[in-house]
Amino acid sequence: MDIKHLPQWALSAGQRPIELYHNPNCHGANLKSPLVFIGGVHGDEPEGVRLALDLIEYLKLPENSALNRPWAVIPCLNPDGFKHNSRVNKNGVDLNRNFPASNWSAEYSKKRYFPGPSPGSEPEVKALVELILNLKPQVIFHFHSWEPCVVLTGEPALKHAQCLSQSSGYELKNNIGYPTPGSLSHYAWVDHKIPVICTEEQEHSDLNKTWSNFGPGLIKILKY
Ligand SMILES: [Zn+2]
Repeated sequence: MDIKHLPQWALSAGQRPIELYHNPNCHGANLKSPLVFIGGVHGDEPEGVRLALDLIEYLKLPENSALNRPWAVIPCLNPDGFKHNSRVNKNGVDLNRNFPASNWSAEYSKKRYFPGPSPGSEPEVKALVELILNLKPQVIFHFHSWEPCVVLTGEPALKHAQCLSQSSGYELKNNIGYPTPGSLSHYAWVDHKIPVICTEEQEHSDLNKTWSNFGPGLIKILKY
């Protein structure tokens, strides 16, 4: 089974390509609620990009071609930030505060949380919103790094979140512990009833370790 690779699925604010990989069961009009995995929402969190890339390598292995479950992986949503080791995109926007969620707010406490001039203003967010509305994912996973934990937003994905918590040994939480207006999790779950799981690797980790923490859980989820 060939994996489809869109090397320029979308363009960032800085005109960098955003890549997307998916399996043949996840495309076109005949959609089956894929699992969607996203790395690099924050450009200074390379652990999540590495985890997404390792997941793609795993999915490319011939012995895993029998995984029929529809999935899509965006290894790095914020290539501008990733290039410059910066949380925000080229426009200085925290993408995880820019979603057109019902709780989007123009207010922000620190520059690093700048939510943009208007909800959904950023091309990276626009592209992901379109994908969410078109594909209606079963669950969205996004990979970050900060303090180790797994954050579940949306009870229907409890089993998946427990899987990742057990695999990594990181605590499972129901919220990150501070307000996140305009976040992906609020937009997808509260506004569209699509559960979201955020994984937080220990920041500044050895990049080789993230897959061993979360990989076994991700594989189990893909094999359900
Ligand atoms: Zn982050």
